Amino acid sequence: MRLFEAILDANHRALAGDQSAGLHVADFTGELPVVALTCVDPRLNRFFPGALGLPEEQFIWLRNAGNIITSPLSSTMRSLALACAVKGGREIAVIGHTDCKIRRTTISELTERFKALGIERRQLPENLTDYFGVFASERQNVIRGVDFIRQSPLIGPRIPVHGLLVDIQSGQLEWIVNGYDALDRPSAAPAGMRLPTLGGVVGDLATGAGFNMGEMKFPESKIGEMASTFIQSLSAPKPEAAAQSPIGAPPAPPPTSSPLPPPPARARVVPIPPPIRLHPGDRDRRR
Ligand SMILES: [Zn+2]
Repeated sequence: MRLFEAILDANHRALAGDQSAGLHVADFTGELPVVALTCVDPRLNRFFPGALGLPEEQFIWLRNAGNIITSPLSSTMRSLALACAVKGGREIAVIGHTDCKIRRTTISELTERFKALGIERRQLPENLTDYFGVFASERQNVIRGVDFIRQSPLIGPRIPVHGLLVDIQSGQLEWIVNGYDALDRPSAAPAGMRLPTLGGVVGDLATGAGFNMGEMKFPESKIGEMASTFIQSLSAPKPEAAAQSPIGAPPAPPPTSSPLPPPPARARVVPIPPPIRLHPGDRDRRR
C-alpha cells in the first residue's frame, strides 16, 4: 500500500469508528514529508495534520485563500518547488474543502467587499476571475491546481501530485486525483500541448518572444545578501581601532551621519513566547 492509499484508508476507518485506525509512519519514510496546499479557512485548523494521520514534522503546510494556483510558475508554485527542493517534500497534495467561501463569493460581491475596504473597481485588474483564480467548483479548482503543478517545470517528474477534498464538517477525505496514476504514464500532458519552460513563460511576459533565460545574467547572491554583507563589514571593528580600544571596552558608537541603523553587537535571541492557554470559559464560548 502506498502512502496516500494508507492515508485514505486510515481516514475512512477512523471516521467509521475504528479506534485503532492510524498511519504507520515508519513504513513510509521514503514518501515523507508531504507538502500540502490548503485554503486559509480557519475551520481547517483542527483537521491538519490529524486527518491525514501524519505527525506535524512530516506535514509541510502551505496555505492561500482558496488553495488556488494561478499558473505553473506562480508564487505558490515557487513555494511548492522550494518545499520539495529545500525541505525535502516527497509528495504533494492539493487539498480543497467543501463549503469554501471563495467559491461562494460572486465577482459582484467581491467588488463590493473591495469597495468597502476603500478599493475602487477601477483600481483592480479587469478580469478578476483570472487574476485571483476564483472558482465555481471546489473540485474543479483542485483538479486545475494539480494540472498546473504537473505542468510546472519547477516540480520534479517523480513527485506524485494528489488532489483531495476534505469535508469541512467531518474531516473525511475524498481522493479526487491519484498522483500515482499519473506517474505510471509517460506524460500527463495531452498530445500537442506545449509545456511551459522558464525561458518561454518569462519571455512571453517580458518581451513577447525571443527571450532566452540562459542569456540573462542574474546575480549569484540572494536577495538581501549584499546589504547584509555590507552591514556586517560596517559593524566589524577596523584593525587599528580594535588595537586602540582597551580590552573589554564597548565598541565606539557609529557616526550619527551613517545612513544605516547601527547593527546589533551580537545576534539577538528571539524569545520564545509562552504557551497560550485557553481558559475553560473561552473554550466553551468558541464552540
Ligand atoms: Zn476555503
